[in-house]
Amino acid sequence: MALLVQKFGGTSVGTTARIEAVAEKVCRFRSEGHDIVVVVSAMSGETNRLIGLANEIMDEPTPREMDVLVSTGEQVTIALLTMALKKRQCDARSYTGSQVRILTDSAHTKARIRNIDEERMREDLAAGRVVVVAGFQGMDELGNITTLGRGGSDTTAVALAAALKADECQIYTDVDGVYTTDPRMVDSARRLDHITFEEMLEMASLGSKVLQIRAVEFAGKYNVPLRVLSSFEEGSGTLITLEEDSAMEQAVVSGIAFNRDEAKLTISGVPDTPGIASRILKPISNANIEVDMIVQNVGADNRTDFTFTVHRNDFKRAREVLEGVASELKAREVSGDSKIAKVSIVGVGMRSHAGVATKMFEALSDERINIQMISTSEIKVSVVINEKYLELAVRALHSVFELDKSEIEA
Ligand code: ADP
Ligand code: ASP
Ligand code: MG
Repeated sequence: MALLVQKFGGTSVGTTARIEAVAEKVCRFRSEGHDIVVVVSAMSGETNRLIGLANEIMDEPTPREMDVLVSTGEQVTIALLTMALKKRQCDARSYTGSQVRILTDSAHTKARIRNIDEERMREDLAAGRVVVVAGFQGMDELGNITTLGRGGSDTTAVALAAALKADECQIYTDVDGVYTTDPRMVDSARRLDHITFEEMLEMASLGSKVLQIRAVEFAGKYNVPLRVLSSFEEGSGTLITLEEDSAMEQAVVSGIAFNRDEAKLTISGVPDTPGIASRILKPISNANIEVDMIVQNVGADNRTDFTFTVHRNDFKRAREVLEGVASELKAREVSGDSKIAKVSIVGVGMRSHAGVATKMFEALSDERINIQMISTSEIKVSVVINEKYLELAVRALHSVFELDKSEIEA
């Protein structure tokens, strides 16, 4: 018999009827003799609703109070699910993050887990009880409530699985696995039977929000067997593994990720001299703004243009900082564009294939899509394009790299 950590996302616990369906599922696993720890999210839309309430009071609520507020969403669902389990004669107990002693650092709204005391859970499991834990939350050393960043219930589940050395961490959601790209954008997207941690981490980092980035990092680090599957249908979902699939020839590109979260800033006509990149970017990082892609052109007349991307939420602030830098450096101008999107192809198969980037660029050029920026790593190529061509680009790349459903079935 196995020890399983099962996480149910917001849509899966979005109504009391759905919570009852989750309880049915958990009871079934229990009756097969498995030990179960369940992690739940808040009902879908609830976290956003709570953030909205806070913003009615003030623009930038203090992070500590924000955590006290948003952690309530998960407290509702643990209680309701536990009631639904007990109604089915399935003994269970609910716990908030602090009760189960998920200890984090004090970085409110984006805290990191430091330690989990699994003793209490072990006692319940030994007594035959299902343990129901609130996702997304913990507490710091001083007893303050913390949260783990949006989508953080995935990380709670993986961390509990690591601490308990569970046989598998199962992430139940509203799709039946990880797809070649977001199935909500591309109908012909195909479910992957398995994907490596490395690829999943790139996909998550580059915008595929099916799993929180930290959850994948954590699972890779502690080698937690991780599976994504549907709350509503039967099926084996997608297994995330350390090893590449040796039985099958490795696809060159495993998936396509995209995001509309970034904005682009250019400072033009800056002196082309050593140290200029740090003089531009240091004030940006001093303002706590993270930079993603960077391009510096070869200049003429000892002057050059410097372009980089930041999160859209930081766009306004980054532009203000850059205006200051521009006047100091006597730059020609600062310009910005927030209507951009980043599209990335991801695959460990790229390591052993040449010409993957060229194929990507050709496919975009065939659709007359202009590439504004490029960045590559061993297993990914990302480009920045005009936001309005995002869907076209994703579909074209999905087809060119033979990821469409029909390609496999044919
Ligand atoms: P939950 O509330 O269960 O945590 P999320 O909304 O966080 O669910 O994640 C599931 C969603 O992720 C899907 O509905 C889907 O639209 C989106 N998604 C994005 N990229 C992918 C992908 N490559 N494969 C599967 N789902 C994806
Ligand atoms: N409820 C939180 C959110 O909406 C955490 C989660 O669902 O994983 O981000
Ligand atoms: Mg999620």
